[in-house]
Amino acid sequence: MAAEKATTKHKYVYGFAEGNKDLKDLLGGKGANLAEMTNLGLPVPPGFIITTEACKAYLATGAEPDGLAEQVATHLAALESAMGKRLGDPADPLLVSVRSGAKFSMPGMMETVLNVGLNDESVAGLARQASDGGPGSGDRFAWDSYRRLIQMFGKTVCDVPGEEFEHALDDAKRAKGTTNDLDLDADDLRALVGAYNKIFAKHTGREFPQPPREQLDLAVRAVFESWNAERAVLYRRQERIPADLGTAVNIVAMVFGNLGPDSGTGVAFTRDPATGNQGIYGDYLANAQGEDVVAGIRNTVPLQELERIDKPSYDELLRIMATLEGHYRDLCDIEFTIERGKLWMLQTRVGKRTAAAAFNIANHLVDEGIIDLDEALHRVNGAQLAQLMFPRFDLSGSPEVVTTGVGASPGAAVGRVVFTSARAVELAGQGERVILVRRETNPDDLPGMIAAQGILTARGGKTSHAAVVARGMGKTCLCGADNLDVDVKAGRFTVAGHVVNEGDVVSIDGTSGCLYLGEVPVRPSEVVQYFEGSVDPATSTDPLVVAVHRIIGHADGVRRLRVRTNADTGEDAARARRFGAEGIGLCRTEHMFLGDRRELVERLILARTETERNEALDALLPLQRADFVEIFREMDGLPVTVRLIDPPLHEFLPSLEELAVHVAVAQERGEDPGKDQALLAAVRRMHEQNPMLGLRGVRLGLVIPGLFAMQVRAITEAAAQLVAEGRDPRPEIMVPLVGAVQELETVRVEAEKIISEVTREHAVEVLIGTMIEVPRAALTAGQIAEAAEFFSFGTNDLTQMAWGFSRDDVEGAFFWRYLELGIFGISPFESLDRDGVGRLVRIAVEEGRAARPGLKIGVCGEHGGDPESVHFFHEVGLDYVSCSPFRVPVARLEAGRAVIESAGSDSR
Ligand code: ADP
Ligand code: MG
Ligand code: MG
Repeated sequence: MAAEKATTKHKYVYGFAEGNKDLKDLLGGKGANLAEMTNLGLPVPPGFIITTEACKAYLATGAEPDGLAEQVATHLAALESAMGKRLGDPADPLLVSVRSGAKFSMPGMMETVLNVGLNDESVAGLARQASDGGPGSGDRFAWDSYRRLIQMFGKTVCDVPGEEFEHALDDAKRAKGTTNDLDLDADDLRALVGAYNKIFAKHTGREFPQPPREQLDLAVRAVFESWNAERAVLYRRQERIPADLGTAVNIVAMVFGNLGPDSGTGVAFTRDPATGNQGIYGDYLANAQGEDVVAGIRNTVPLQELERIDKPSYDELLRIMATLEGHYRDLCDIEFTIERGKLWMLQTRVGKRTAAAAFNIANHLVDEGIIDLDEALHRVNGAQLAQLMFPRFDLSGSPEVVTTGVGASPGAAVGRVVFTSARAVELAGQGERVILVRRETNPDDLPGMIAAQGILTARGGKTSHAAVVARGMGKTCLCGADNLDVDVKAGRFTVAGHVVNEGDVVSIDGTSGCLYLGEVPVRPSEVVQYFEGSVDPATSTDPLVVAVHRIIGHADGVRRLRVRTNADTGEDAARARRFGAEGIGLCRTEHMFLGDRRELVERLILARTETERNEALDALLPLQRADFVEIFREMDGLPVTVRLIDPPLHEFLPSLEELAVHVAVAQERGEDPGKDQALLAAVRRMHEQNPMLGLRGVRLGLVIPGLFAMQVRAITEAAAQLVAEGRDPRPEIMVPLVGAVQELETVRVEAEKIISEVTREHAVEVLIGTMIEVPRAALTAGQIAEAAEFFSFGTNDLTQMAWGFSRDDVEGAFFWRYLELGIFGISPFESLDRDGVGRLVRIAVEEGRAARPGLKIGVCGEHGGDPESVHFFHEVGLDYVSCSPFRVPVARLEAGRAVIESAGSDSR
């Protein structure tokens, strides 16, 4: 094109015919897809695109880059000759829209100006051109277009408060005694333009610019600058969209949906984006321009009605929708306008959809032969599957949504409203379900957040304190419901004309962000029922169950990572097995020291002689053995990794304060405090400044004689007992918190002695391995592998120790601030920090396998169920991930997706 000659430097402008859908980085999503539709031969008004590079250059220097003005002039000239009209021609003006469009859709965040090119003179020319009969029949349309230009231009280019224009429009309607903008005639609109001009001049200190090219250039600038508008910056941070992409600008010849009843504008989806069902979904509004449909100024009609209003356009639209689906091989959403019976396509993209729709659509497209199962797997994700597993509100009674906010942490929570953390704790203590309502939360609210079923706030988005902490706890949270007026002192909030007092029941949906008054019934997820085995996919009529079954089945077929679960009871083990777990990656033994067994632990700690200590251990042995028998039985034939006791022993004793009071009270009364006195002394002696870094894990085993030995014996005897019953237990003993191979070797020598003693009669293979959770262990993995038959990364501790912060303290205290500042995009406890902690993982895998080829390596801890992290663990070549039972399906799905994505990401 001639454009290249205009500058030797850089091509900043592309005609629609020069682009395609794969150029989203350069042309933005909207521009790339407009180009694609143009090249498909669909009716797109002609236009051109200013690249994101021009935007970036502008934002960096504050001025349009060299050559841009000339290239725009060249493309504008081409557009004028294609349209047979000139921008600003008083007799027959070409009008254009100036539209933002970034690589990723950022709905409502950036600017668009329509009808650029109108001024006091050309408005008359437009009126004459538009008249379809009697004189003056185009006047209404032309003045309506002009007032829209001043309104949009004023608001988006010159920061004139939008309400002022809206008030003037309302005044005009009121004077006319109507609420419908269509009742305003040409004279009313001409008068409105006068009022708009005054508003414009008052706020900008200048007249509305008349030269069309000046309008165009200012609008382009405004679109560039809208990239850095505060709301756009916040939105990107929330959605983790990089800050440096810039937006493209689309200049598109205007087509008019406001030319009368045979014109109109609409939006459409090629399938239902809520359910994924096939069919036509959309809204249409006659005699209206673009943004009217979404702005809700008049009631739209369902798209199906267009068939009655304008059958030829409707039929053509359906044909185009089919073409687009066939071309993009996915659900598309569409913006279109009809100008006097002629259909124009103004936008398309692969449409957003709910989690249920994502699975259903992928499954339908496979049935229709449009995509294969690999592609279907690629198109859904673990976060969506997790959403489908939460219990949900039964909306069959159509409860009223009183407001919506940000669904920040999924779930369906019902409870009585409380306004303070203390009250939440108090009522929850009485067995009440409560919802903690705050303007915004802060670290002092933590106890109340823990006590509540769910959290509702009026301010803050997905990275607010409430959102971050709630997600960390897996608690339902709806935040940023900004028309909630919270009055903590009065103990009530108001919303949409309702007053809600403390103690009133509300229901919050942390997925959809909807708030309901009163109790909405909750029903279990069909998908969980399917995983539980209570719904048979072969006979189920629920399309979602069928889709999930098929797609996760494919994931299982392709994945290389095994998926295990974290479970410490037979019951959890059984459930996880139904969810598809292929063993236990982490069986914690801590709970085996709780409840009525605490007394034995106390005896162990207080033992003064070897005999006393052995008595305590001997009493614990059969109890632990029984626990293991149950778990091994449920996981028959599958590996079970049992972690030897990990937490500091004083965690099993009463608190210092509690004991001190007991002892003091007893002494006061002249009674003998007995055992409490000794316990108090022990607690004082065992007190640690930093228990996370204190006497725990392998250190306990090395310091307290007989403790690990008892556990090893219980594990091995349990396994031997099952072998005697003809079963197939696969125990793996895991030593926690190892930092040096010498620690592991010491434990190993003792353990092997016990194992060979116990298994003399019933051969059982018992593996001995270690957690890698102390940075030193990762860094000396080559040495440690000499003494370990397997590694399992404890990524919680590894994260804590790599960053040097204690999870329990920091998440509630300051993570929200770190997220706000972008220090990390997501909590490193939620998703593995690839650069830092991930590096330790890589080193340990490489050096561990170099020392012991084929070393079995897995990960336990919640990262094992986090989609992003699962992809990382696949990449670095782990053998398995282990996560809580409910995350097992998510990990299965993502382990499959990781294979598909590493195999074919470029071809997609
Ligand atoms: P958004 O990204 O917010 O959807 P758009 O750039 O798509 O903004 O434009 C806003 C509205 O104006 C849309 O409804 C669009 O269809 C309409 N519109 C944009 N350009 C034109 C045009 N050249 N002719 C008619 N309507 C247009
Ligand atoms: Mg749009
Ligand atoms: Mg640990």
